[in-house]
Amino acid sequence: MAKATTWSVPVTKALRADGAKVRKFDTSATPGFKGNKRAGEALLAERAQVLSDLQERLYANGRSGDQRSVLLVLQGMDTAGKGGIVRHVIGSVDPQGVDHASFGVPTDTEKKHHYLWRIRKELPRAGQIGVFDRSHYEDVLVVRVHELVEPPVWEKRYDEINKFERKLVDEGTTLIKVAMFVSLDEQKKRLMQRLERTDKYWKFNPADIDERAYWPAYQEAYQAVLDRTGTEYAPWHMLPCDHKWYSRLAVTELLIDALTGLKLEWPSAKFDIEEQKRRLLES
Ligand code: AMP
Ligand code: MG
Repeated sequence: MAKATTWSVPVTKALRADGAKVRKFDTSATPGFKGNKRAGEALLAERAQVLSDLQERLYANGRSGDQRSVLLVLQGMDTAGKGGIVRHVIGSVDPQGVDHASFGVPTDTEKKHHYLWRIRKELPRAGQIGVFDRSHYEDVLVVRVHELVEPPVWEKRYDEINKFERKLVDEGTTLIKVAMFVSLDEQKKRLMQRLERTDKYWKFNPADIDERAYWPAYQEAYQAVLDRTGTEYAPWHMLPCDHKWYSRLAVTELLIDALTGLKLEWPSAKFDIEEQKRRLLES
C-alpha cells in the first residue's frame, strides 16, 4: 500500500515557482513524488479522505463564527485539466462546503465593470473552500496576449492584483495559486481526443486550435504572472499536468497542507452537554 513517504520533498516546496522558467518547465515531470501512477492513484484515494475530514473541520468552524476560508485558483491553458481537478479532487469533499466559480469570456454586464468585480462576487464565504476555474489572471493572460486592452491598462493590473490578494489574505483567506502546464504535444493529444470521442465533443472549441499559435506569447504572459504576482503571502505553484494522476495528487496535497496550516480544531459545544443528554433521555 502507498504511504505518505512516497513524497521525497513536501509538495509546496516541490512546486514552488521561485524564478523557474515557463519555457523550460518539464510538464511531464512528477516533482517530489517517488512513486509511479499506481502508487499515486492509491495514495490519492487515501489522501482524499484526509482532505475531506479537514474540509469538514473548516466548514464546522465557519458555522461557529470563524471567518477563515481557502481559495484554490486554477489557472492554465485549455486541456491542462482544470475540470479534472474540480471533479476528482474537489469532488471528494462535501459539496456544500465548496464555493466553485468558473470565469469565461466576460458577459456584457461584466464588461461594464472593473475586471475584479466578477471575481469579488465569487470569493469564498467563511468556512468554505473556494475554487476558481480560471480567474482574475485571465485579465493579464488572454487579455495581454490578444491585446484586448492597451498595454498600459494590463500593465498596472499586476500591482493591483497583488494589493487585492494582500487584502484577501489579511481578511482570512488562504490563497493557493496553481499554474497548470501541459506540453504543446500533450495538448494536441487531448484536443484530438475531444474530436474522437462522442463524450468529449462538448468540450471542443475550434478556437482552441487557433490559440495554439499563440503558445510562446502565452508562455511569456505566464512568466510575467509568476514573476510579478508570486508573493510571500500568495505564492505561485507550477504544476506539471501531462500526468493527470500526478496533478490531482499534488493539488490534493496542496489543499491538505493549507488546511493543516489553519490548525483547525473541532468547535467546542456551546451548550451544557450533560444537561442536554439528560433532557434527551427524558424526552
Ligand atoms: P473554458 O474555460 O474552456 O470554458 O474557456 C473560457 C474562455 O474564456 C477561455 O478561452 C478564456 O481565455 C476566456 N476568458 C476568460 N476570462 C477572460 C477575460 N477576462 N477576457 C477574455 N477572455 C476570457
Ligand atoms: Mg475550453
